[in-house]
Amino acid sequence: MTSLIQLGYLASAILFILGLKALARPRTAVRGNLLGSAGMLLAVVVTLADQNILTYTYLAVGLALGAIIGTILAVRVQMTGMPQLVALFNGFGGLASLLVGAASYLELIDRPEAIGNDTAAAAGFTLLIGAVTFTGSLVAFGKLQEIFNGDSFQDQGIRVFAVVSLVLAVGLAVAVVLSPSPLWMWALIAIALLAGIALVAPIGGADTPVVIALLNSFSGLAAATTGFVLGNSVLIIAGSMVGASGLILTQIMCKAMNRTLFNVMFSSAAVAGGGGDSDDIYTGKVTSSSADEVALILDTAQSVAIIPGYGMAVAQAQHAVRDLTRALEERGADVVFAIHPVAGRMPGHMNVLLAEAEVPYEQLKEMEHVNPQFDQTDVSIIIGANDVVNPSARQDPTSPIAGMPILDADKSRTVVVIKRSLSHGFAGIPNPLFAADNTLMLFGDGKAAVEDINRALAEI
Ligand code: NDP
Repeated sequence: MTSLIQLGYLASAILFILGLKALARPRTAVRGNLLGSAGMLLAVVVTLADQNILTYTYLAVGLALGAIIGTILAVRVQMTGMPQLVALFNGFGGLASLLVGAASYLELIDRPEAIGNDTAAAAGFTLLIGAVTFTGSLVAFGKLQEIFNGDSFQDQGIRVFAVVSLVLAVGLAVAVVLSPSPLWMWALIAIALLAGIALVAPIGGADTPVVIALLNSFSGLAAATTGFVLGNSVLIIAGSMVGASGLILTQIMCKAMNRTLFNVMFSSAAVAGGGGDSDDIYTGKVTSSSADEVALILDTAQSVAIIPGYGMAVAQAQHAVRDLTRALEERGADVVFAIHPVAGRMPGHMNVLLAEAEVPYEQLKEMEHVNPQFDQTDVSIIIGANDVVNPSARQDPTSPIAGMPILDADKSRTVVVIKRSLSHGFAGIPNPLFAADNTLMLFGDGKAAVEDINRALAEI
Protein backbone atom coordinates (compact mmCIF):
# COMPACT_ATOMS: atom_id res chain seq x y z
CA MET A 1 0.00 0.00 0.00
CA THR A 2 2.78 2.44 1.01
CA SER A 3 4.66 2.02 -2.24
CA LEU A 4 1.41 2.38 -4.18
CA ILE A 5 0.75 5.65 -2.37
CA GLN A 6 4.28 6.92 -3.06
CA LEU A 7 3.81 5.94 -6.69
CA GLY A 8 0.55 7.92 -6.77
CA TYR A 9 2.32 10.98 -5.32
CA LEU A 10 5.12 10.60 -7.85
CA ALA A 11 2.59 10.42 -10.71
CA SER A 12 0.76 13.54 -9.52
CA ALA A 13 4.08 15.43 -9.13
CA ILE A 14 4.97 14.47 -12.72
CA LEU A 15 1.53 15.67 -13.87
CA PHE A 16 2.12 19.03 -12.08
CA ILE A 17 5.49 19.48 -13.77
CA LEU A 18 4.15 18.56 -17.23
CA GLY A 19 1.13 20.82 -16.63
CA LEU A 20 3.32 23.77 -15.68
CA LYS A 21 5.51 23.22 -18.74
CA ALA A 22 2.48 23.12 -21.04
CA LEU A 23 1.05 26.26 -19.44
CA ALA A 24 4.07 28.22 -20.66
CA ARG A 25 2.71 28.29 -24.26
CA PRO A 26 -0.73 29.52 -25.29
CA ARG A 27 -1.13 26.65 -27.73
CA THR A 28 -0.65 23.99 -25.03
CA ALA A 29 -2.08 25.96 -22.08
CA VAL A 30 -5.48 24.21 -22.04
CA ARG A 31 -3.73 20.83 -21.96
CA GLY A 32 -1.47 22.14 -19.19
CA ASN A 33 -4.49 23.14 -17.15
CA LEU A 34 -6.03 19.69 -17.58
CA LEU A 35 -2.78 17.93 -16.65
CA GLY A 36 -2.42 20.09 -13.51
CA SER A 37 -6.05 19.43 -12.53
CA ALA A 38 -5.60 15.69 -13.07
CA GLY A 39 -2.47 15.80 -10.89
CA MET A 40 -4.41 17.58 -8.16
CA LEU A 41 -7.28 15.08 -8.33
CA LEU A 42 -4.83 12.19 -8.07
CA ALA A 43 -3.07 13.88 -5.13
CA VAL A 44 -6.38 14.32 -3.29
CA VAL A 45 -7.44 10.69 -3.90
CA VAL A 46 -4.06 9.34 -2.83
CA THR A 47 -4.02 11.53 0.30
CA LEU A 48 -7.48 10.31 1.28
CA ALA A 49 -6.22 6.75 0.99
CA ASP A 50 -2.93 7.54 2.69
CA GLN A 51 -3.84 9.34 5.91
CA ASN A 52 -5.69 7.96 8.87
CA ILE A 53 -8.94 9.76 8.15
CA LEU A 54 -11.14 10.01 11.25
CA THR A 55 -14.29 11.11 9.47
CA TYR A 56 -15.23 11.30 5.83
CA THR A 57 -18.47 13.18 6.61
CA TYR A 58 -16.75 16.50 7.43
CA LEU A 59 -14.49 16.08 4.43
CA ALA A 60 -17.44 15.50 2.12
CA VAL A 61 -19.31 18.53 3.49
CA GLY A 62 -16.18 20.73 3.20
CA LEU A 63 -15.50 19.50 -0.33
CA ALA A 64 -19.09 20.13 -1.43
CA LEU A 65 -19.21 23.60 0.13
CA GLY A 66 -15.79 24.57 -1.28
CA ALA A 67 -16.70 23.28 -4.73
CA ILE A 68 -19.98 25.23 -4.77
CA ILE A 69 -18.42 28.51 -3.54
CA GLY A 70 -15.40 28.12 -5.85
CA THR A 71 -17.55 27.40 -8.89
CA ILE A 72 -19.87 30.37 -8.24
CA LEU A 73 -16.90 32.72 -7.73
CA ALA A 74 -15.05 31.50 -10.82
CA VAL A 75 -18.11 31.66 -13.07
CA ARG A 76 -19.26 35.08 -11.90
CA VAL A 77 -15.91 36.88 -11.82
CA GLN A 78 -15.31 39.47 -14.55
CA MET A 79 -11.97 39.39 -16.34
CA THR A 80 -11.13 42.76 -14.74
CA GLY A 81 -11.84 41.26 -11.29
CA MET A 82 -9.45 38.33 -11.71
CA PRO A 83 -6.58 39.79 -9.64
CA GLN A 84 -8.96 40.18 -6.65
CA LEU A 85 -10.02 36.56 -6.94
CA VAL A 86 -6.40 35.42 -7.09
CA ALA A 87 -5.68 37.53 -3.99
CA LEU A 88 -8.56 35.90 -2.14
CA PHE A 89 -7.48 32.40 -3.13
CA ASN A 90 -3.91 33.13 -2.03
CA GLY A 91 -5.29 34.26 1.33
CA PHE A 92 -7.29 31.06 1.74
CA GLY A 93 -4.18 29.04 0.86
CA GLY A 94 -2.26 30.90 3.58
CA LEU A 95 -5.07 30.34 6.09
CA ALA A 96 -5.24 26.61 5.30
CA SER A 97 -1.49 26.27 5.89
CA LEU A 98 -1.77 28.31 9.08
CA LEU A 99 -4.55 26.09 10.46
CA VAL A 100 -2.74 22.86 9.57
CA GLY A 101 0.52 24.22 11.02
CA ALA A 102 -1.16 25.27 14.28
CA ALA A 103 -3.10 22.01 14.67
CA SER A 104 -0.01 19.90 13.97
CA TYR A 105 2.15 21.97 16.32
CA LEU A 106 -0.38 21.69 19.19
CA GLU A 107 -0.65 17.96 18.58
CA LEU A 108 3.10 17.49 18.54
CA ILE A 109 3.72 19.61 21.60
CA ASP A 110 1.82 17.07 23.72
CA ARG A 111 4.33 14.47 22.64
CA PRO A 112 7.71 16.17 23.19
CA GLU A 113 9.53 13.00 22.12
CA ALA A 114 7.85 13.30 18.70
CA ILE A 115 8.68 16.94 18.00
CA GLY A 116 12.06 17.05 16.32
CA ASN A 117 13.70 20.38 15.54
CA ASP A 118 13.03 19.91 11.84
CA THR A 119 9.27 19.46 12.33
CA ALA A 120 9.11 22.37 14.76
CA ALA A 121 11.07 24.56 12.32
CA ALA A 122 8.70 23.62 9.49
CA ALA A 123 5.70 24.38 11.73
CA GLY A 124 7.24 27.75 12.73
CA PHE A 125 7.76 28.70 9.07
CA THR A 126 4.26 27.56 8.17
CA LEU A 127 2.70 29.68 10.91
CA LEU A 128 4.78 32.73 9.98
CA ILE A 129 4.29 32.60 6.22
CA GLY A 130 0.69 31.35 6.40
CA ALA A 131 -0.37 34.20 8.71
CA VAL A 132 1.42 36.93 6.70
CA THR A 133 -0.05 35.53 3.47
CA PHE A 134 -3.56 35.38 4.92
CA THR A 135 -3.90 38.96 6.18
CA GLY A 136 -1.67 40.42 3.45
CA SER A 137 -3.88 38.85 0.78
CA LEU A 138 -7.07 40.09 2.42
CA VAL A 139 -5.68 43.63 2.48
CA ALA A 140 -4.62 43.32 -1.19
CA PHE A 141 -8.12 42.05 -2.02
CA GLY A 142 -9.70 45.00 -0.18
CA LYS A 143 -7.58 47.47 -2.14
CA LEU A 144 -8.24 45.98 -5.54
CA GLN A 145 -11.94 45.75 -4.73
CA GLU A 146 -11.69 49.42 -3.69
CA ILE A 147 -13.10 48.62 -0.24
CA PHE A 148 -10.36 50.91 0.99
CA ASN A 149 -7.60 52.93 -0.61
CA GLY A 150 -3.98 51.90 -0.03
CA ASP A 151 -2.75 55.41 -0.72
CA SER A 152 -4.32 56.56 2.58
CA PHE A 153 -1.88 54.34 4.57
CA GLN A 154 1.23 56.21 3.53
CA ASP A 155 2.31 57.03 7.07
CA GLN A 156 5.98 56.09 7.56
CA GLY A 157 5.00 54.68 11.00
CA ILE A 158 3.14 51.81 9.33
CA ARG A 159 6.25 50.82 7.38
CA VAL A 160 8.35 50.92 10.55
CA PHE A 161 5.71 48.85 12.35
CA ALA A 162 5.72 46.35 9.46
CA VAL A 163 9.48 45.84 9.66
CA VAL A 164 9.49 45.65 13.49
CA SER A 165 6.60 43.16 13.59
CA LEU A 166 8.22 41.05 10.88
CA VAL A 167 11.50 40.90 12.82
CA LEU A 168 9.56 40.06 16.00
CA ALA A 169 7.62 37.34 14.18
CA VAL A 170 10.87 35.78 12.91
CA GLY A 171 12.19 35.87 16.52
CA LEU A 172 9.02 34.13 17.74
CA ALA A 173 9.32 31.52 14.98
CA VAL A 174 12.79 30.72 16.35
CA ALA A 175 11.34 30.56 19.90
CA VAL A 176 8.65 28.15 18.68
CA VAL A 177 11.44 25.80 17.57
CA LEU A 178 13.91 26.20 20.43
CA SER A 179 11.44 26.24 23.29
CA PRO A 180 8.17 24.65 22.12
CA SER A 181 5.13 26.17 23.83
CA PRO A 182 1.57 27.07 22.80
CA LEU A 183 2.19 30.59 24.15
CA TRP A 184 4.98 31.26 21.61
CA MET A 185 2.79 29.81 18.92
CA TRP A 186 -0.19 32.10 19.62
CA ALA A 187 2.12 35.11 19.96
CA LEU A 188 3.74 34.24 16.62
CA ILE A 189 0.36 33.93 14.90
CA ALA A 190 -0.88 37.26 16.31
CA ILE A 191 2.26 39.21 15.36
CA ALA A 192 2.53 37.62 11.91
CA LEU A 193 -1.14 38.43 11.18
CA LEU A 194 -0.42 42.08 12.06
CA ALA A 195 2.79 42.05 10.00
CA GLY A 196 0.81 40.89 6.94
CA ILE A 197 -1.58 43.84 7.29
CA ALA A 198 1.17 46.40 7.90
CA LEU A 199 3.36 45.13 5.04
CA VAL A 200 0.65 45.31 2.38
CA ALA A 201 -1.45 48.28 3.59
CA PRO A 202 0.96 51.07 2.52
CA ILE A 203 1.71 49.59 -0.91
CA GLY A 204 0.34 51.93 -3.58
CA GLY A 205 -2.56 50.79 -5.75
CA ALA A 206 -0.22 50.70 -8.74
CA ASP A 207 1.98 48.07 -7.11
CA THR A 208 -0.73 45.88 -5.61
CA PRO A 209 -0.74 43.33 -8.50
CA VAL A 210 3.01 42.78 -7.96
CA VAL A 211 2.36 42.13 -4.28
CA ILE A 212 -0.35 39.63 -5.22
CA ALA A 213 2.18 37.69 -7.29
CA LEU A 214 4.53 37.75 -4.28
CA LEU A 215 1.78 36.58 -1.92
CA ASN A 216 1.01 33.81 -4.39
CA SER A 217 4.61 32.73 -4.02
CA PHE A 218 4.26 32.91 -0.22
CA SER A 219 1.14 30.74 -0.27
CA GLY A 220 3.16 28.14 -2.19
CA LEU A 221 6.00 28.33 0.34
CA ALA A 222 3.52 27.94 3.20
CA ALA A 223 2.07 24.85 1.48
CA ALA A 224 5.59 23.43 1.01
CA THR A 225 6.50 23.89 4.69
CA THR A 226 3.11 22.35 5.63
CA GLY A 227 4.24 19.37 3.53
CA PHE A 228 7.32 19.04 5.79
CA VAL A 229 5.13 19.20 8.92
CA LEU A 230 2.79 16.51 7.61
CA GLY A 231 5.50 14.47 5.90
CA ASN A 232 3.58 14.77 2.62
CA SER A 233 5.89 14.78 -0.39
CA VAL A 234 3.38 15.95 -3.00
CA LEU A 235 2.54 19.02 -0.91
CA ILE A 236 6.25 19.86 -0.73
CA ILE A 237 6.63 19.50 -4.50
CA ALA A 238 3.44 21.40 -5.44
CA GLY A 239 4.13 24.14 -2.87
CA SER A 240 7.69 24.60 -4.10
CA MET A 241 6.49 24.94 -7.68
CA VAL A 242 3.91 27.58 -6.72
CA GLY A 243 6.55 29.36 -4.61
CA ALA A 244 9.11 29.40 -7.41
CA SER A 245 6.70 30.36 -10.19
CA GLY A 246 5.17 33.15 -8.06
CA LEU A 247 8.63 34.53 -7.41
CA ILE A 248 9.57 34.40 -11.10
CA LEU A 249 6.32 36.20 -11.98
CA THR A 250 7.01 38.86 -9.35
CA GLN A 251 10.45 39.38 -10.87
CA ILE A 252 9.03 39.63 -14.41
CA MET A 253 6.46 42.23 -13.32
CA CYS A 254 9.03 44.30 -11.43
CA LYS A 255 11.33 44.24 -14.47
CA ALA A 256 8.54 45.27 -16.84
CA MET A 257 7.75 48.21 -14.54
CA ASN A 258 11.45 49.01 -14.11
CA ARG A 259 11.21 48.70 -10.30
CA THR A 260 12.94 46.54 -7.73
CA LEU A 261 10.97 44.40 -5.31
CA PHE A 262 12.43 46.35 -2.41
CA ASN A 263 11.27 49.57 -4.04
CA VAL A 264 7.76 48.15 -4.49
CA MET A 265 7.55 46.95 -0.88
CA PHE A 266 9.18 49.77 1.01
CA SER A 267 9.00 53.00 -0.97
CA SER A 268 6.01 55.31 -1.12
CA ALA A 269 3.59 55.07 -4.01
CA ALA A 270 6.02 57.10 -6.09
CA VAL A 271 4.33 56.46 -9.37
CA ALA A 272 1.31 58.64 -8.66
CA GLY A 273 1.76 62.27 -9.72
CA GLY A 274 4.74 63.87 -11.46
CA GLY A 275 5.57 63.48 -15.12
CA GLY A 276 4.82 67.10 -16.04
CA ASP A 277 1.74 69.30 -16.08
CA SER A 278 -1.19 68.03 -18.17
CA ASP A 279 -2.17 71.53 -19.33
CA ASP A 280 1.35 72.28 -20.61
CA ILE A 281 1.51 68.98 -22.43
CA TYR A 282 -1.98 68.93 -23.99
CA THR A 283 -3.33 72.47 -24.39
CA GLY A 284 -3.75 73.35 -28.07
CA LYS A 285 -1.81 70.30 -29.26
CA VAL A 286 -4.36 67.48 -29.20
CA THR A 287 -6.06 66.50 -32.48
CA SER A 288 -9.50 64.88 -32.13
CA SER A 289 -10.76 62.60 -34.83
CA SER A 290 -13.92 60.72 -35.80
CA ALA A 291 -14.66 57.09 -36.61
CA ASP A 292 -15.22 58.06 -40.27
CA GLU A 293 -11.82 59.75 -40.55
CA VAL A 294 -10.06 56.81 -38.85
CA ALA A 295 -11.85 54.37 -41.19
CA LEU A 296 -10.62 56.35 -44.24
CA ILE A 297 -7.03 56.19 -42.99
CA LEU A 298 -7.31 52.47 -42.21
CA ASP A 299 -8.83 51.73 -45.61
CA THR A 300 -5.51 52.46 -47.31
CA ALA A 301 -3.17 51.16 -44.56
CA GLN A 302 -0.90 48.26 -45.47
CA SER A 303 0.44 47.55 -42.01
CA VAL A 304 -1.51 48.06 -38.80
CA ALA A 305 -0.46 47.42 -35.19
CA ILE A 306 -3.21 47.16 -32.57
CA ILE A 307 -2.12 47.95 -29.03
CA PRO A 308 -4.61 46.87 -26.38
CA GLY A 309 -4.51 48.08 -22.77
CA TYR A 310 -6.54 48.07 -19.60
CA GLY A 311 -9.32 50.15 -21.23
CA MET A 312 -9.98 47.36 -23.74
CA ALA A 313 -10.68 45.06 -20.79
CA VAL A 314 -12.96 47.65 -19.14
CA ALA A 315 -14.87 48.26 -22.37
CA GLN A 316 -14.92 44.53 -23.24
CA ALA A 317 -13.94 45.61 -26.73
CA GLN A 318 -12.05 42.47 -27.71
CA HIS A 319 -14.77 41.05 -30.00
CA ALA A 320 -15.18 44.38 -31.81
CA VAL A 321 -11.39 44.54 -32.14
CA ARG A 322 -11.32 41.07 -33.67
CA ASP A 323 -13.96 42.17 -36.21
CA LEU A 324 -11.86 45.21 -37.05
CA THR A 325 -8.83 42.97 -37.59
CA ARG A 326 -10.78 40.77 -40.01
CA ALA A 327 -12.12 43.78 -41.92
CA LEU A 328 -8.59 45.16 -42.31
CA GLU A 329 -7.17 41.82 -43.38
CA GLU A 330 -9.91 41.49 -46.01
CA ARG A 331 -8.59 44.81 -47.37
CA GLY A 332 -5.12 43.28 -47.62
CA ALA A 333 -3.55 44.91 -44.56
CA ASP A 334 -1.03 43.11 -42.41
CA VAL A 335 -2.35 43.31 -38.81
CA VAL A 336 -0.45 42.46 -35.62
CA PHE A 337 -1.26 42.88 -31.95
CA ALA A 338 1.55 44.45 -29.94
CA ILE A 339 1.41 43.13 -26.38
CA HIS A 340 3.20 44.85 -23.51
CA PRO A 341 4.07 42.52 -20.59
CA VAL A 342 2.20 44.70 -18.06
CA ALA A 343 -0.67 45.93 -20.23
CA GLY A 344 -3.90 45.61 -18.26
CA ARG A 345 -3.91 44.67 -14.62
CA MET A 346 -2.41 41.20 -14.55
CA PRO A 347 0.21 39.31 -16.53
CA GLY A 348 -1.27 37.87 -19.70
CA HIS A 349 -4.43 39.99 -19.30
CA MET A 350 -4.52 41.01 -22.97
CA ASN A 351 -3.61 37.53 -24.24
CA VAL A 352 -6.52 36.02 -22.32
CA LEU A 353 -9.03 38.59 -23.61
CA LEU A 354 -7.86 38.23 -27.21
CA ALA A 355 -7.86 34.43 -26.98
CA GLU A 356 -11.47 34.67 -25.73
CA ALA A 357 -12.28 36.62 -28.91
CA GLU A 358 -10.49 33.93 -30.97
CA VAL A 359 -7.70 36.16 -32.23
CA PRO A 360 -5.00 33.74 -33.51
CA TYR A 361 -1.97 33.49 -31.18
CA GLU A 362 0.41 34.03 -34.09
CA GLN A 363 -0.93 37.55 -34.42
CA LEU A 364 0.12 38.46 -30.86
CA LYS A 365 3.65 39.90 -30.85
CA GLU A 366 5.70 40.52 -27.76
CA MET A 367 7.28 43.92 -27.13
CA GLU A 368 10.86 43.05 -28.10
CA HIS A 369 9.68 41.54 -31.40
CA VAL A 370 7.29 44.28 -32.41
CA ASN A 371 9.25 47.37 -31.35
CA PRO A 372 11.71 47.29 -34.27
CA GLN A 373 8.69 47.14 -36.66
CA PHE A 374 6.94 50.36 -35.58
CA ASP A 375 8.86 52.70 -37.90
CA GLN A 376 7.55 50.66 -40.85
CA THR A 377 3.97 50.58 -39.52
CA ASP A 378 1.32 52.70 -41.28
CA VAL A 379 -1.14 52.94 -38.40
CA SER A 380 -0.95 52.01 -34.73
CA ILE A 381 -4.36 51.79 -33.06
CA ILE A 382 -4.11 52.12 -29.29
CA ILE A 383 -7.23 50.87 -27.52
CA GLY A 384 -7.46 51.77 -23.84
CA ALA A 385 -3.68 51.66 -23.34
CA ASN A 386 -1.83 54.58 -21.81
CA ASP A 387 1.26 53.96 -19.63
CA VAL A 388 2.59 51.16 -21.83
CA VAL A 389 2.88 53.59 -24.79
CA ASN A 390 3.99 56.68 -22.85
CA PRO A 391 7.16 57.95 -24.59
CA SER A 392 8.19 59.95 -21.51
CA ALA A 393 9.48 56.62 -20.14
CA ARG A 394 12.09 56.82 -22.91
CA GLN A 395 12.54 60.57 -23.21
CA ASP A 396 12.18 62.11 -19.74
CA PRO A 397 14.65 60.92 -17.08
CA THR A 398 12.61 62.74 -14.39
CA SER A 399 9.40 60.86 -15.25
CA PRO A 400 8.14 58.47 -12.55
CA ILE A 401 8.14 55.73 -15.21
CA ALA A 402 11.59 56.68 -16.65
CA GLY A 403 13.33 53.57 -17.93
CA MET A 404 10.20 51.44 -18.09
CA PRO A 405 10.28 49.60 -21.42
CA ILE A 406 7.36 50.76 -23.60
CA LEU A 407 5.82 49.93 -26.97
CA ASP A 408 7.29 52.44 -29.44
CA ALA A 409 3.93 53.17 -31.09
CA ASP A 410 4.87 56.86 -31.44
CA LYS A 411 7.30 55.84 -34.21
CA SER A 412 4.44 54.71 -36.49
CA ARG A 413 3.36 56.93 -39.38
CA THR A 414 -0.07 57.57 -37.82
CA VAL A 415 -1.20 56.82 -34.26
CA VAL A 416 -4.89 56.50 -33.37
CA VAL A 417 -5.64 56.55 -29.65
CA ILE A 418 -9.07 55.33 -28.52
CA LYS A 419 -10.01 56.32 -24.96
CA ARG A 420 -12.74 58.31 -23.25
CA SER A 421 -10.75 61.39 -22.22
CA LEU A 422 -7.24 62.70 -21.70
CA SER A 423 -7.20 61.26 -18.19
CA HIS A 424 -4.16 59.34 -17.04
CA GLY A 425 -3.58 55.62 -16.64
CA PHE A 426 -2.38 53.55 -13.69
CA ALA A 427 0.83 55.53 -13.20
CA GLY A 428 -1.10 58.79 -12.81
CA ILE A 429 0.94 60.84 -15.29
CA PRO A 430 0.17 62.66 -18.57
CA ASN A 431 1.13 61.09 -21.86
CA PRO A 432 2.86 63.32 -24.49
CA LEU A 433 1.88 60.80 -27.18
CA PHE A 434 -1.67 62.19 -27.10
CA ALA A 435 -0.33 65.59 -28.18
CA ALA A 436 2.09 64.31 -30.82
CA ASP A 437 1.79 65.59 -34.42
CA ASN A 438 1.14 62.12 -35.82
CA THR A 439 -1.53 61.23 -33.21
CA LEU A 440 -5.31 61.34 -33.67
CA MET A 441 -7.47 61.01 -30.57
CA LEU A 442 -10.76 59.16 -30.99
CA PHE A 443 -12.59 59.89 -27.75
CA GLY A 444 -15.17 57.37 -26.57
CA ASP A 445 -15.75 54.02 -24.96
CA GLY A 446 -13.40 51.44 -26.48
CA LYS A 447 -16.08 49.04 -27.68
CA ALA A 448 -18.44 51.70 -29.07
CA ALA A 449 -15.59 53.49 -30.86
CA VAL A 450 -14.26 50.34 -32.53
CA GLU A 451 -17.79 49.33 -33.55
CA ASP A 452 -18.21 52.79 -35.11
CA ILE A 453 -14.98 52.33 -37.07
CA ASN A 454 -16.17 48.89 -38.22
CA ARG A 455 -19.45 50.38 -39.45
CA ALA A 456 -17.65 53.24 -41.20
CA LEU A 457 -15.22 50.81 -42.86
CA ALA A 458 -18.08 48.67 -44.11
CA GLU A 459 -19.63 51.71 -45.76
CA ILE A 460 -16.49 52.73 -47.67
P1 NDP B 1 -3.33 52.31 -18.15
O1 NDP B 1 -3.82 52.01 -16.79
O2 NDP B 1 -2.07 53.04 -18.29
O3 NDP B 1 -4.43 53.13 -18.96
C1 NDP B 1 -5.69 52.61 -19.19
C2 NDP B 1 -6.48 53.64 -19.97
O4 NDP B 1 -7.70 53.01 -20.35
C3 NDP B 1 -6.87 54.86 -19.15
O5 NDP B 1 -6.05 55.96 -19.47
C4 NDP B 1 -8.34 55.09 -19.49
O6 NDP B 1 -8.50 56.37 -20.05
C5 NDP B 1 -8.64 54.03 -20.54
N1 NDP B 1 -9.97 53.45 -20.38
C6 NDP B 1 -10.58 53.07 -19.26
N2 NDP B 1 -11.81 52.62 -19.52
C7 NDP B 1 -11.97 52.72 -20.86
C8 NDP B 1 -13.03 52.42 -21.75
N3 NDP B 1 -14.20 51.93 -21.33
N4 NDP B 1 -12.84 52.65 -23.06
C9 NDP B 1 -11.68 53.15 -23.52
N5 NDP B 1 -10.65 53.47 -22.72
C10 NDP B 1 -10.80 53.25 -21.40
O7 NDP B 1 -3.31 50.91 -18.90
P2 NDP B 1 -2.11 50.17 -19.66
O8 NDP B 1 -2.68 48.85 -20.00
O9 NDP B 1 -1.54 51.04 -20.72
O10 NDP B 1 -0.97 50.03 -18.57
C11 NDP B 1 -1.08 49.14 -17.46
C12 NDP B 1 -0.62 49.82 -16.21
O11 NDP B 1 -0.88 48.97 -15.12
C13 NDP B 1 0.88 50.12 -16.22
O12 NDP B 1 1.14 51.29 -15.51
C14 NDP B 1 1.43 48.93 -15.45
O13 NDP B 1 2.67 49.21 -14.86
C15 NDP B 1 0.34 48.74 -14.43
N6 NDP B 1 0.38 47.37 -13.88
C16 NDP B 1 0.08 46.32 -14.66
C17 NDP B 1 0.22 45.03 -14.16
C18 NDP B 1 -0.02 43.83 -14.98
O14 NDP B 1 0.32 42.76 -14.52
N7 NDP B 1 -0.56 43.96 -16.17
C19 NDP B 1 0.60 44.81 -12.80
C20 NDP B 1 0.90 46.00 -12.09
C21 NDP B 1 0.74 47.22 -12.61
P3 NDP B 1 -9.92 57.10 -20.04
O15 NDP B 1 -10.38 57.13 -18.62
O16 NDP B 1 -9.64 58.45 -20.62
O17 NDP B 1 -10.84 56.31 -20.92
